[in-house]
Amino acid sequence: MALTGRRAAREESNGGRRNVQTEAQFRKCGNAECGQTLFVGDIERHFYCCKHCDFHFRVNARKRVEITLDEGSWVELFDNLETVDALGFKAHKSYLQSLDEGRAKSGEKEAVLCGEGRIEGQPLVFCVMDFQFIGASMGSVVGEKIARAIEHGTAKGWPVAIVCCSGGARMQEGALSLMQMAKTSAALQRHNEAGLGYYTILSDPTLAGVSASFAFLADVIVGEPGAMIGFTGARVIEQTIKVRLPEGFQTSEFLLKYGQIDMVVPRKDLRPTLSRLLGYARGAYGRSGPRRPAPALDAPPLEPEPAVKKEERRRAPRAAARKTARKKRTA
Ligand SMILES: [Zn+2]
Repeated sequence: MALTGRRAAREESNGGRRNVQTEAQFRKCGNAECGQTLFVGDIERHFYCCKHCDFHFRVNARKRVEITLDEGSWVELFDNLETVDALGFKAHKSYLQSLDEGRAKSGEKEAVLCGEGRIEGQPLVFCVMDFQFIGASMGSVVGEKIARAIEHGTAKGWPVAIVCCSGGARMQEGALSLMQMAKTSAALQRHNEAGLGYYTILSDPTLAGVSASFAFLADVIVGEPGAMIGFTGARVIEQTIKVRLPEGFQTSEFLLKYGQIDMVVPRKDLRPTLSRLLGYARGAYGRSGPRRPAPALDAPPLEPEPAVKKEERRRAPRAAARKTARKKRTA
């Protein structure tokens, strides 16, 4: 939440300390039907949601890491990558200017944070997009960081979870931006071939090039309540096909109803849900035995089970049955 920026604006226009404090401490709920004025501390305590109507505010990437991962487990990766203006792009302002503004607004070098961490002791590679950085659009560095993070997961034998939030491809990088869709998808294919789990959390908004690539390629796709998720904006679709779109079109709930996503999970439940999903993939909730404990913090990475061993286990009950049948025949 960009409270600092708004505080500065108030200071300039009013020069009054009282106004400054009011603006910094309170925020209006984004749901027009609710419209409650909320204490910022309360919003933070409720996982950046309205305590009256559960409206989900956008969360910056660092805060998202903080509320999702185990405390102290986050290790950031690939934060040395920085964007350059390869095309010398200029519109109403230059790309370099947009980058500077994005950096100032978000406090980040780019629109995605990638790293490794743990959820209830279970290791994973975790990426979070930050909408404050040029609408979290996918430029070359965003695509490269995500692709490298996925490859890091493949090498370590770890699952990957990405919190998506993006306006789509970054127009200032033209075709270079579109290439990121293919690059991230190819990295995911290799991750999938290694038999590893991949999860996405689609927050408001997840659109265009991001929804058409890594956001919708996950094993389990989780939507945040009320998030706008789609490819093209609703107004453009209406104008093109000249049909009035149904109520709630392009929201998480609408997509769940039509089978496009797997679940809608309130933010307060996201961490336990992810923990459970990671557990399923590790076989922690198998029918055959008690839950496998989460590995210790300094434990080596989980090795994916070799295919041969899996095959042996599949055959074992049948082989045992044949043996008993033979015994019965000879007796
Ligand atoms: Zn509200």
